[in-house]
Amino acid sequence: MSEPEHRTEILPPDAAGIARAAAVLQAGELVALPTETVYGLAGDARNPQAVAAIYAAKGRPALNPLIVHVADLAAAERLADLPPPALRVARAFWPGPLTLVAPLRAGHALAPAVTAGLPTVALRVPAHGLARAVLDAFGGPVAAPSANPSGRISPTSAAHVLAGLSGRIAAVLDGGACPVGLESTILGVKDGAPVLLRAGGVSAEALTEVLGAAPMAGGGGQVTAPGQLPSHYAPRAPLRLNAQAPAADEVWIGFGPDCAGAELTLSATGDLNEAAARLFAVLHEADAMGRAIAVAPVPERGLGVAINDRLRRAAAPR
Ligand code: AMP
Ligand code: MG
Repeated sequence: MSEPEHRTEILPPDAAGIARAAAVLQAGELVALPTETVYGLAGDARNPQAVAAIYAAKGRPALNPLIVHVADLAAAERLADLPPPALRVARAFWPGPLTLVAPLRAGHALAPAVTAGLPTVALRVPAHGLARAVLDAFGGPVAAPSANPSGRISPTSAAHVLAGLSGRIAAVLDGGACPVGLESTILGVKDGAPVLLRAGGVSAEALTEVLGAAPMAGGGGQVTAPGQLPSHYAPRAPLRLNAQAPAADEVWIGFGPDCAGAELTLSATGDLNEAAARLFAVLHEADAMGRAIAVAPVPERGLGVAINDRLRRAAAPR
């Protein structure tokens, strides 16, 4: 990671904060923005220095491409050629927690490092009111990976952002807790067929309904980015999955009414949307307790698929 060099400004979620966030982007500096998924570390996607600063602030390997956030479908289509299945899901789920990987369009003006030199780009139209207001005020594409040091737990509050990046970025726009709480679902298209590259805030069931068939499972074997590494989203403490009860000295994270004795819970009622929204905050909280962590089983359906994906990576050997 780069050395601390800023006094990170905390911007209020109002017109002044939005204008200041857009000015920070205009100046080629970095601002963490709330989105419905997690806080994104935003920089001007056309400015090579800003893009380099994102990789440096996160300590992110330079070969791992960033997601570009745009205001609407028309802005996405100026940057990439969206094949028919991508267009169909874009119309259904944008704005929202879905990222599409598509071939770059000639004359796109993005800094090459955004795509790590690939001929494709990952695009998303966020739904969060503050992220949308900043995109409108800025008027250009914004590269924004999660606003945390590479490999650590993703941030779902301004406090999480500051805990990881204070002093390394110009500002954070404080929009409170992120409503979805999980990163976006990533969909690519290979030989005309949709490929699910990462589980996320849009469930596979919801995609299947719009596409008329389940997307192929993708990413197999070939790691193209940090969210696909076996160890990612990692707390400092060891983490044990599918724990029916805690061992002595473990913090137990429960899910559902059977875990009434748990110190922390993803959702006391067993609601997967609530569990997704709380996942990273609960992991941050458990990590701060400084003890080993045990997590109750979470069902493998709906957002549970993405929750389990993140938990497995958080538990993976490092
Ligand atoms: P995040 O760390 O949440 O910003 O996620 C970045 C993700 O976007 C990575 O896991 C990649 O899988 C994906 N990604 C970004 N750009 C591309 C691209 N051009 N081709 C394939 N995947 C991409
Ligand atoms: Mg991330």
